[in-house]
Amino acid sequence: MEKHELVIVGAGPAGLTAAIYGRRAGLDVLVLEKGIAGGQITVTAEIENWPGTPMISGEELARAFREHAERFSPEFREAEVKKISIDAGKKIIVTDKGDIEAESIVIATGARFRKLGCPGEAEFTGRGVSYCAVCDGAFFEDQVVAVIGGGNTAVEEADYLTRFASKVYIVHRRDSFRADRAVVEKAMSNPKIEPVWNSVVERIEGEDMVEKVVIKNVKTGEISDLPVAGVFVFVGMDPNSEFVKGLVEMKDGGWIVTNDRLETSVEGIFAAGDVRDKFLRQVVTAAGDGATAAMAAYSYVSEQLHLQKVLFEPEKVVSFFYSSIEPEQIKLATDIEKTYHRKVILVDGYKNKRMCEKLGIDELPKAVVLNKGTLVRSKKILGVQDIEELI
Ligand SMILES: Cc1cc2nc3c(=O)[nH]c(=O)nc-3n(C[C@H](O)[C@H](O)[C@H](O)COP(=O)(O)OP(=O)(O)OC[C@H]3O[C@@H](n4cnc5c(N)ncnc54)[C@H](O)[C@@H]3O)c2cc1C
Repeated sequence: MEKHELVIVGAGPAGLTAAIYGRRAGLDVLVLEKGIAGGQITVTAEIENWPGTPMISGEELARAFREHAERFSPEFREAEVKKISIDAGKKIIVTDKGDIEAESIVIATGARFRKLGCPGEAEFTGRGVSYCAVCDGAFFEDQVVAVIGGGNTAVEEADYLTRFASKVYIVHRRDSFRADRAVVEKAMSNPKIEPVWNSVVERIEGEDMVEKVVIKNVKTGEISDLPVAGVFVFVGMDPNSEFVKGLVEMKDGGWIVTNDRLETSVEGIFAAGDVRDKFLRQVVTAAGDGATAAMAAYSYVSEQLHLQKVLFEPEKVVSFFYSSIEPEQIKLATDIEKTYHRKVILVDGYKNKRMCEKLGIDELPKAVVLNKGTLVRSKKILGVQDIEELI
């Protein structure tokens, strides 16, 4: 089966940054993308918060990311990942173009727009219902449209739509927006924008194309018609993580849980960008995640390959597991290295927590004797001489 050191799933800002860092670290990198490389930003008009570039279109920034990643020659492949499974300890990625084995994986599949789920939404999608102002806004020149939602994306995109539409209603279930203050102030000073507070969409109606939304006031229960030609839905996101459901730990509807090295609950599988459980989902945080995940994957691959060879293959190995954040243990490790040069394999147990768990090492520092990967003996070590009898 085809095998790579690092397979990145998704080529948005997180995946493309991971590809840059992974290749620069010397890994053999394969990037799998089911759609257009660039991710969600390809459908946003203006990005004002990518540091160093006060204003850039999403499409341009996506192109710059792609071209930058291509300079380091990762392999790009158009493929949709359907499942990731662990088979006899091997990480297998099942795609619509065949199976691939990976030493390490970065899941960077981002998130997608949530649907309203009301009658008319599915029928009129592409006939007045849209989830992308940049893609479809220009079709509504001098017409009235409604934006549904109250977060940053809804309010920003409503403002953008006023370039084309004669009027933009923002239908929101509460009586104030959740968006950032600056975003709200800009939109509210736009005379073409009119908020419709405390309201939810009951259904979307029309003949061939959308003609109106039927809304319900959640405070009074009153039902009324809002005549519009277009409905732009921005009511939140869901993570693209179904293909690892049941494999990695997730939170609140599928957001992948990671630690600060962006490791998931499965060894060698990392998650970066919008798909993970995090505070802020933006281009800059996705790119930062991509860098961290790729470097953590690099450290995992090199360490695992090295440790596999020196720890688990020989017939007898004495190894000293210590914590690299405890000064006393670092000193002890250095002294052991000096005294027993090459006779004792030093392993940073702090960085290799999962290996410690596998070997049953529950406290550090500890010395172990292994026979072809099986623990034969372990001993708590307080001074250099304590290890002598194991060698
Ligand atoms: C309308 C809009 C406006 C925005 N404006 C801003 C802004 O002004 N500033 C800002 O910082 N952020 C903005 N964002 C947010 C920003 O776009 C995201 O935070 C960022 O794109 C997340 O990057 P990502 O790489 O994690 O995921 P994404 O960009 O979602 O990329 C994920 C990629 O994975 C691919 N993929 C998914 N599933 C699979 C699969 N199973 N197999 C293979 N490939 C798969 C997708 O096709 C996609 O290309 C905006 C988002 C939207 C939608």
